[in-house]
Amino acid sequence: MRFSRRLGYADFSEAELKKLKPIKGSTACLTCGCGSHDTLPMTAILAVGFGDVTVFSGDKIIYSEMDRDRRKLSLWTASKAEQAAKKAPTKDWRIKFDAPLYEAEYQRQGVRHWVLIRKGQGFA
Ligand SMILES: [Zn+2]
Repeated sequence: MRFSRRLGYADFSEAELKKLKPIKGSTACLTCGCGSHDTLPMTAILAVGFGDVTVFSGDKIIYSEMDRDRRKLSLWTASKAEQAAKKAPTKDWRIKFDAPLYEAEYQRQGVRHWVLIRKGQGFA
């Protein structure tokens, strides 16, 4: 896509992955330098206990905490989601936490770079 700018085409990677605006956080991000926002540590365990954590690749569910419980499979960390995402980096990858009083959604916007794009009160 070397001539993309001259021809006025969008870059392929941008066409597939639409980066959403991060929620303003408290710490400056050293990964992308685009100001302060929150990112998910790679060591984070993708479990909330009561509720669910889901990993999406586009509209496909790749991991679900509740489903893992049912099938007695081990829980993922964010690092595991990163490993899966690396195989299809142009897809829109999300990690959603849904718990009582806690709700958060992260979008993968680069290598090991999962940015908080939504948070809320969760279900009660
Ligand atoms: Zn960043």
